[in-house]
Amino acid sequence: MGYRFEIITGPMSCGKTEELLRRIRRLIIAKKKVKVISPTIDTRAKGDYIESRNGLWLDTIKVKNSEEILELVNETDDVIAIDELQFFDEGIVDVIKVLMKQGKRIIGTGLDLDFKGEPFGPMPMLLAYADKVDKLTAICMKCGSEYAVRTQRMIDGKPADKNSPLIMIGADETYEARCLDCWELGDKQHDENHKKLSVLTIAKR
Ligand SMILES: [Zn+2]
Repeated sequence: MGYRFEIITGPMSCGKTEELLRRIRRLIIAKKKVKVISPTIDTRAKGDYIESRNGLWLDTIKVKNSEEILELVNETDDVIAIDELQFFDEGIVDVIKVLMKQGKRIIGTGLDLDFKGEPFGPMPMLLAYADKVDKLTAICMKCGSEYAVRTQRMIDGKPADKNSPLIMIGADETYEARCLDCWELGDKQHDENHKKLSVLTIAKR
């Protein structure tokens, strides 16, 4: 008996998928039957496979929601690997609990925090149920620190605003790892309110 549910988490570019692929490869050598699943929302992958930034890849089955996972899993599957857990609906928590009860070994990856620095989707619950959690850090794209723990969203080359929509059509959008000191989150609304407030304070005087 080993771990039933492992999560590899951390910010963008911390090597989550690479670590997942490493674990899967070992299990395949150990003659375990591994099924790799990822959500359709993941636009990074070009086809039905997951690819780490260093070029390793593995075939994957794309699913639209968490319910589809239970339909896919067979009695003969030993290991269920799930990439990009943060993109799943809340139902993923119960799906994983069922799989754990069935004796499957589940290895998942996912971003712990979104670009606003807030817990990403079902990740807080999943991290609580996991019996092994590895938090990886990335290299900060701004200062080179080895402790990048946040995902920086950039829109047209500038740090994204807190209130920017999750999907921006036509904008040049990128994400990069940043350490806590370099991570920037614009808050236009707060700045404007603050400006109004200082104008009021001055007017009162
Ligand atoms: Zn930094």
